[in-house]
Amino acid sequence: MTEVLEEQAERGTQLGRVSHWIGGETVAGESGRSGPVYNPAKGVQTKEVDFASVEEIDRAVQVAKDTFAKWRQVSLSKRQELFFAIRELVHQRKDEIAAILTEEHGKVFSDAQGEVQRGLEVVEYACGIPTLLKGDFSEQASTGIDVYSIRQPLGVVAGITPFNFPAMVPMWMWAPAIACGNTFVLKPSEKDPSAANFTAQLLKDAGLPDGVFNVVHGDKVAVDAILEHPDVSAVSFVGSTPIARYIYETGTKRGKRVQALGGAKNHMIVLPDADIDMAADAAVSAAYGSAGERCMAISHVVAVGDAGDKLVEAIKERLPKIKVGDGMEPDVEMGPLVTREHRDKVASYLESGPEQGATLVADGRDSSPDGDGFFLGVSLLDNVTPEMDAYKDEIFGPVLGISRVDTYDEAVRMVNENPYGNGTAIFTRDGGVARRFEFDVQAGMVGINVPIPVPVAYYSFGGWKQSLFGDRHIYGPEGIDFYTRGKVVTSRWPDPATSKIDLGFPQTR
Ligand code: NAD
Repeated sequence: MTEVLEEQAERGTQLGRVSHWIGGETVAGESGRSGPVYNPAKGVQTKEVDFASVEEIDRAVQVAKDTFAKWRQVSLSKRQELFFAIRELVHQRKDEIAAILTEEHGKVFSDAQGEVQRGLEVVEYACGIPTLLKGDFSEQASTGIDVYSIRQPLGVVAGITPFNFPAMVPMWMWAPAIACGNTFVLKPSEKDPSAANFTAQLLKDAGLPDGVFNVVHGDKVAVDAILEHPDVSAVSFVGSTPIARYIYETGTKRGKRVQALGGAKNHMIVLPDADIDMAADAAVSAAYGSAGERCMAISHVVAVGDAGDKLVEAIKERLPKIKVGDGMEPDVEMGPLVTREHRDKVASYLESGPEQGATLVADGRDSSPDGDGFFLGVSLLDNVTPEMDAYKDEIFGPVLGISRVDTYDEAVRMVNENPYGNGTAIFTRDGGVARRFEFDVQAGMVGINVPIPVPVAYYSFGGWKQSLFGDRHIYGPEGIDFYTRGKVVTSRWPDPATSKIDLGFPQTR
């Protein structure tokens, strides 16, 4: 199955080649365009990924369209049975998927296992599809007339996904989309594309008919071809805010249903009454896990009153103990960044931050492991203010910023004035203040003494403000809603006793 990963490129190099997956088989790209895939811990290119042309996107969509006619006929119980089989297979092969993630993304193996597990929860939710698609029924809505609602699939739907969760974010999309009866075209990140092909083979092995799940690799050319394609009914996107906005505006202009999740700046407020050790452990875990390349990472802490000095001291004390290195080594806790360019961009905030007035408490450039890997050690910037680039930008790396404010109100105002609104957290022992925070704060996902409040699979995931374009969150009940459209049937069966001519507008009483 992993020939696709091991296949040697036909272009005279020794690099593995990652090709498209269309109609249940590997399809070598013919556009003549491709991109490099790296092992970021070693800093070397390991593969070359094909970039799809407009024609190749059209071919994948055509296959998905042809398959849709058959797939939507498959009964709910068969779909459910299939999803149980998919669940089992993904569970059995979890470590292989995780190893691919570590190799191409760089996150440590245990974190990669966690990613697959959280994605699997969405597959488990999709196993309940017969219940999730139940409609309403009103008997005798009018005399002899029943009314009922049904939800039907949209057709061909596409997913465009980011580099930072190469297995989980696609699962957020394909699991509900396919369970609802749609066929799917995935355009994964070109930086770590192999997990998508591995998943495609697993779905086939589990019994999913060919053509229901397709993978096309590529860059803007592929994305634009998806957005322009008249046979793509809906697009789910997860990635950075500028691209999310572009996807939403372009896709909706073409009449598609679009949910586009963007970037984030997730604040954690620490009140003076908080358990400082617990807050410091949480801030360190949530800021530096996956090298800060999580859309739900805590990238900014707002310390209120005298919590500040104690918290900075507690965080600083924990940093030297974090082991940075190749994520396949068992005791390593933080891996490299995804590319050299991204590492250099993240490191630039360690220059601009102090230049603009922040205090560099820990400089990750001093603690990066030797070698060619794209490493940057853990970094801490204190006294960050809203005008600084280190505050305004997402950063998306192992750099935690801290601001000091005097009151709870100032802290909440800071969160609410930030253009992003993905996740946020408060650390306090005061239930009344926590409740007020949950009421006041403008963000889609809120943690109370929980730093990364990613909702469980039977709720939905999504931010507010510039962290989400579109009106439906992803997975959970809103995911089912997104991938289906409603129909209401008003029905009357011939009954000679009630039949008569009536030219009046239909009345319900
Ligand atoms: P990205 O926006 O660069 O890329 C995402 C996808 O868009 C990729 O498939 C990429 O090929 C495509 N793309 C990139 N540039 C494009 C262009 N100009 N035109 C059309 N398509 C383009 O994001 P990334 O760097 O892969 O991922 C990191 C970002 O994703 C961060 O901002 C992070 O916060 C965000 N993210 C958000 C969530 C969320 O749930 N809100 C989850 C994960 C990641």
